Amino acid sequence: MIKLLKFQEHQDLLKSAEDFLNDLENPQINESNDDSDIHSILTKIADKLKLNKNIIDEFSELTKILNPLVEKLLKNSGQKIDLDVENLILLTFTACCISYLDESGNSAGDEKSTCGNCQGKGCGDCSGSGYFSSIITKEVARNLLEELKLSGIGNGIVKKLVANLHKLKDFISKLVKKEINFFDLTNHQSIVSSIETSIDKNKLGLDNFVSGISSLQAGIKGILSTNPDRLDGLEMINEQ
Ligand SMILES: [Zn+2]
Repeated sequence: MIKLLKFQEHQDLLKSAEDFLNDLENPQINESNDDSDIHSILTKIADKLKLNKNIIDEFSELTKILNPLVEKLLKNSGQKIDLDVENLILLTFTACCISYLDESGNSAGDEKSTCGNCQGKGCGDCSGSGYFSSIITKEVARNLLEELKLSGIGNGIVKKLVANLHKLKDFISKLVKKEINFFDLTNHQSIVSSIETSIDKNKLGLDNFVSGISSLQAGIKGILSTNPDRLDGLEMINEQ
C-alpha cells in the first residue's frame, strides 16, 4: 500500500503512525460521559420506543466506549450535523445495534437466525435448536432509524457510521492479532482512545475515516517491519 507514495506523503504516514503508537504506549483514557448518564439516556430511549430493557443492558457498555469517537467523527464531517447529547447517544446506540446484526449474519433482523455453526441442524452452540434468537430485530432497527430521522439524522449517515465501525473493529483485530467481535471492543478502550486522538490529529470524519485508518495501518506496518517487537510488551495489545 505504501508503493508510489511520494516521499513526503510517506513521511507523513509514518509520522501519524508513530504518533498513534506513542499514544498506545502512553495511554490516556479520554473522559467520556459517565456510565449512569449513558445508561439513563438509553433507558429513556427504551421507554419511549418500547424496547426490551435487555437490549440496553447488552449494548450500554459498547455505546459508552464508542460515543466519544462517534462525536468526533461527526464534528469532522463538515456536514451540518448538530446533535444534542441524547441524539448522539441514540445514533451511537443504533449504529452499534446495526453493526451487531451485520456481524451475526442477520442484517435483515430476523427474530430467529440460523446457527452459523451447524447451519440449522442443531449443535451445542445453539442448544440443539439450530437457531439463535436475535436481541435486535427488524422492528427494533426500524424504530431506531425512524427516531433518528425525526431528529434529522438520515439512514445515509447511519450507514457510513456502521461502515466506519466495521473498519474500526477490523483495525483493532489486526492490531491485537486476533479476530474480535463488536462487544470485545469494550476490552480495548485504550486502543479506541488512541484512535480518537488520531481522528483529531488527522481530521477524520465519516467520509475519510476508512481511508485514514487504512493509511494508519500501512504506516504501522511500515514501522513494525523495521521494529517487529515494538508492541510486544504492550499489555493492552494482549488485554482481554
Ligand atoms: Zn448450532
